Amino acid sequence: MYIGRFAPSPTGPLHAGSLVAALASWLDARAHGGRWLIRIEDVDGPRCPPGIDRLILDQLAQCGLHPDEPPLWQSARSALYEQALRTLQLGGWAYGCACSRKQIAEALLAQGLQTERHGELVYPGTCRTGLHGQAARAWRLRSTADLAGTEDLTLNWLDRRLGSQTQNLSKEVGDFVLKRADGLWPYQLAVVVDDAAQGVTDIVRGADLADNTPRQIRLQQLLGLPTPRYLHTPLVLGADGSKLSKQNGAAALELGDAALALRLAASVLGLQVTGGTVAEVLAQALERWQASFGGMMPATAAAKSSSLS
Ligand code: GLU
Repeated sequence: MYIGRFAPSPTGPLHAGSLVAALASWLDARAHGGRWLIRIEDVDGPRCPPGIDRLILDQLAQCGLHPDEPPLWQSARSALYEQALRTLQLGGWAYGCACSRKQIAEALLAQGLQTERHGELVYPGTCRTGLHGQAARAWRLRSTADLAGTEDLTLNWLDRRLGSQTQNLSKEVGDFVLKRADGLWPYQLAVVVDDAAQGVTDIVRGADLADNTPRQIRLQQLLGLPTPRYLHTPLVLGADGSKLSKQNGAAALELGDAALALRLAASVLGLQVTGGTVAEVLAQALERWQASFGGMMPATAAAKSSSLS
């Protein structure tokens, strides 16, 4: 049984880019005769203004994208994340970390190591061997193949659009955070726990998240959870070529004409549709998706948002 999902973080309303991921995940679920779920990923409470979750659900409904079950809110599921962390602690894979961001940056500098990757610091492993009397601020996962930390872990995985992918988790990502110093749950742990709890078999989401997949596969392995199939969709780029995102102020989706917004989202997926109503657009897009992407999806160039206005 196919189960897919759309899992927005309610940090801002849907924009042209997030509609592409929502539409693709809905189309793939429908094309496989599966179920489609919505999960509100509001673990980072301070970044989620009140009411945005409802706004996103309204926007999806206006686009005819209705979930097969009532949505889940991650903010209500801390007990499950705590349990997963406990499992990783008991297995010796999670360790407490006392380092502040500043200390990590200084340690990296002193060791002449690569300091940043996509804005994140690659942890130099300071607390791997113990806290040396300090209190744990955060919890991290050992990103190596073995508990002793001597062997790098390289993960290979297959994306239905991007093909074969590989990442040296130990070198390229390092020991990533499982529980933040401010007590909040990070995306990586919450997404893995919930995808498994909801029985998700297929993850369809934007290509900006492809890079997170090895971290999630590693957590699935260590927690004894199945690995879903993955398909990362093309991104909508801003006029300057950067990814359209809430962070860089992408405009909220204007839904005066939901059918138009859906036609544009479909075109990013390489689906040419002409329908005038939401129902027509969805039906045509589904037909095209079934014809083209039953299995692999061709790598298409990302569309420019200028063609979306
Ligand atoms: N919540 C994440 C976001 O909005 C997406 C999670 C996922 O699809 O895995 O970027």
